[in-house]
Amino acid sequence: MKTDYLIVGSGLSALVFGALMANSGKKVLILESHEYPGGFGHTFTMAKKYKFNAQLHYVWDCGEGGAVNRVLKKLNLAEEVTFKRYNPAGFDHMKMPNFSLEIPSESEELIRRLTNLFPEHKDNISNFIKEIQKTSQGLKILSPPINFATLLSHFSEVFCALQYLNSTLQDVFNKFNLPQAAQTLLALQWPDFLLPPNQLSFYAWVILFTGYQKGAFYPTKHFEFVINSLVKVIEKNGGQVLLNHTVTNFLVNNKTVTGVTAIDKITQKTSDFTGETIICNLDPKKAAQMIGLEKFSKTVQKKLNYDYSPSNFMAYCVVKDINLRDYGFGEWNTFHTGHENLNEAFKQMYEKNDFSHPSFAITTPTLLTETERDCPEDCQIIEFLTVANYDYFKQLQDTDKKAYRQKKEEILNTILDVVEKNYIPNLKEHLVFKITGSPTTNERFCGCPQGNSYGSSLTPRNMGIGRLNHETSFKNFYFCNASSGYPGFAPTFWTGAILYQRLSGDLILSK
Ligand SMILES: Cc1cc2nc3c(=O)[nH]c(=O)nc-3n(C[C@H](O)[C@H](O)[C@H](O)COP(=O)(O)OP(=O)(O)OC[C@H]3O[C@@H](n4cnc5c(N)ncnc54)[C@H](O)[C@@H]3O)c2cc1C
Repeated sequence: MKTDYLIVGSGLSALVFGALMANSGKKVLILESHEYPGGFGHTFTMAKKYKFNAQLHYVWDCGEGGAVNRVLKKLNLAEEVTFKRYNPAGFDHMKMPNFSLEIPSESEELIRRLTNLFPEHKDNISNFIKEIQKTSQGLKILSPPINFATLLSHFSEVFCALQYLNSTLQDVFNKFNLPQAAQTLLALQWPDFLLPPNQLSFYAWVILFTGYQKGAFYPTKHFEFVINSLVKVIEKNGGQVLLNHTVTNFLVNNKTVTGVTAIDKITQKTSDFTGETIICNLDPKKAAQMIGLEKFSKTVQKKLNYDYSPSNFMAYCVVKDINLRDYGFGEWNTFHTGHENLNEAFKQMYEKNDFSHPSFAITTPTLLTETERDCPEDCQIIEFLTVANYDYFKQLQDTDKKAYRQKKEEILNTILDVVEKNYIPNLKEHLVFKITGSPTTNERFCGCPQGNSYGSSLTPRNMGIGRLNHETSFKNFYFCNASSGYPGFAPTFWTGAILYQRLSGDLILSK
């Protein structure tokens, strides 16, 4: 039987698209290079008993009517793929020298907390927080599919959003004259973007910040269950996800992509696969280079000219015989900086590879759901995330494997020292497992060029009007990935669903 949709890569947007198409009766075949499905969202098991999700920590837009919920309902998965909400009174705990702030869902409460810390800046704080809400509403109206009647009736919000098209978060902090420490507390979730305020698109920050305010969630049965549920829909409807298959070439006939060549990593056998329509979940720029960039239209070539998001360092750790709840951890993330200025902190780590005063995120997945465990009863998982420079790690790995391992060890040890000093004394005594990932680990296991974490970098340039979408200028060939939509769990659900909507005519996301 012919394949209707041949999909390269099993990242979240591909799985969502594939599951929706399979559910509608189409024949779907996914070729995935890794041994697990899910791309950045895959889960791996270590020492036969600890489960770690590669990159996902917390997600938004999972409540009733959100993109994730709409897709799950369409797939009849909404009853089983459920989410637990983080603590709305404080879902992100921000810690910096002399100040700390728990970010609440309610904007009025956020204004109150910030005003308590910086009373002399009451009006600036209030105006800034209100501007975020207004921009968020404007962006929602401007996101496709656009309803022109709503656009006209909410012109003030739309206008508010449009004025920040080229702004960084830092530009808007400056406009509202926020004190430095307030800026740092508000922007401390920078690892969610892997960009500091002076490079980060204000739009990207607003979408994520307000998204999490509306509801920060964790899947009740962990991320693995979400991925497996999407795969099951594909398989139940006669489709297939072929793991360990790396696509090495696209088959192109004039302006039509007809299939791909892939190598089976287990048998080393090379085969051609064809499909009526080819969906590309691997990085669009990389795919275009495989096909020949010059074969794409000038417009698409221009859109493909994005720079990659910085890469990251991850430490996956397990502690035993200690309850992290006793040390200030719970249904929230903790973000720490030793440096008051995040632009400087980022520069030190990313440009100078100096992690002596690190800024990083701490997540504790075991504490987020009691329905299913990700490790034995007497253990808990704790993970640390920060930025890391691809070129630096790649060079170390290529030239001096020992130095590469030492650098990873050094970063983890510095982070552990900071955590012992500020949060969990004797943490190291309770550590029973640790493994670290670098930019080259991302590249190896997630197939992302230069170990990029979020596809195209989340700068105003990449987040503006010239952003890539699913159009490739080839017949029967579409991009479906964070860089041709938006990065993140909910945004990649949206990316997969919007392409499904476009190709099937089934308007599941319509407002
Ligand atoms: C450090 C980090 C933390 C993050 N934290 C969060 C978070 O807390 N919340 C959130 O919402 N989002 C988070 N994200 C973002 C989110 O994980 C990604 O945006 C999303 O998973 C990307 O999905 P995608 O569809 O673009 O595909 P990807 O995940 O990029 O998957 C692409 C797939 O294609 C495969 N592939 C590549 N080349 C080939 C080939 N030649 N042949 C076959 N297969 C190939 C890859 O193996 C991979 O499986 C995080 C990302 C990172 C890096």
